[in-house]
Amino acid sequence: MNTPVLVLAKDSNKVLFCASLHHAARMVEDFRQAEWVSKTPPIIRARIVGLTAQNMTRPLKTRLYGNCHVLNPEGEVMFHCNQDKINWYLSRGLAEKVKDDPPTIQLKFQPNGPGHMGDDYYLTSKRNECVVCGSKVQLTRHHVVPWCYRKYFPAIVKDHSYHDILLLCVACHDKYEEEANRLKEKLAFEYGIPLMGTGWHHDKTIIKLKKHAHALRKHWKGIPPARREELLDTLRDFYKKHDITEEDMERADAMESMIQTEDFARHGETIVAKISETYLDLESFVKMWRGHFLETMDPQFLPEHWNQDRPIVRERDKNDGRWA
Ligand SMILES: [Zn+2]
Repeated sequence: MNTPVLVLAKDSNKVLFCASLHHAARMVEDFRQAEWVSKTPPIIRARIVGLTAQNMTRPLKTRLYGNCHVLNPEGEVMFHCNQDKINWYLSRGLAEKVKDDPPTIQLKFQPNGPGHMGDDYYLTSKRNECVVCGSKVQLTRHHVVPWCYRKYFPAIVKDHSYHDILLLCVACHDKYEEEANRLKEKLAFEYGIPLMGTGWHHDKTIIKLKKHAHALRKHWKGIPPARREELLDTLRDFYKKHDITEEDMERADAMESMIQTEDFARHGETIVAKISETYLDLESFVKMWRGHFLETMDPQFLPEHWNQDRPIVRERDKNDGRWA
């Protein structure tokens, strides 16, 4: 079982991220030098690995915006996409090429819906650059609403919120991540939902077992024989055997004392459930994150028509009954 661990910045109490111990171990520069702030709940203070390490922000391998145009049979622009999608239509004979610059095709069949017709944001070509600093290298996708919340959004919102996925360079992304973590902590406090989720059980037997095993391993020689026997008895009770090996002690010391119960609920899931009881609350939640990003990062290269107040569901989707 993966116990979430809060990782704090080396020289402060700033939460860098919350991840499973296993995940955290891969990201922390030198896990052996990480300092335990508390074991229940698990909190460590450490320096995290540089940008190239596994699981840290990684730059995209391909360009996010292909800026290729797709026209309907009437010749109106329906949507923009990348070259692969254009090739897909062409190779199946579903479209014909109109021009090369920008790459444009026209569909030979009547599509089901209007695509992004009439939507200035989607039909404006976008530059592949960091929206904050304009860098054209080391770009990565940025979810304006952090993924830990966004993944619990209803499909109708997720499907059409490509507006809330922006390009950032890795450096700006990591800088914003710290700001976002601060807001997450604030939400955790306001809603009473810790970042590590709710529904944890602290197993007192294991806590005691770990404590005694740890003492035996670290201070074996310094412990008076009578006390040593008492400590060993805790392990004997647990393992139901008399002879306790070094390996038994090591295993007991490494055990997890925090266990997820049946009621365990993730921070993001619970917050989204609370706020999405009404459409307007979910929308204001999204707008709050957009505003936070604008205020903290002051992006100078946002795509044209990007709008903090854009509704999270298109009018026509709201009307077709899919929004419950
Ligand atoms: Zn940047």
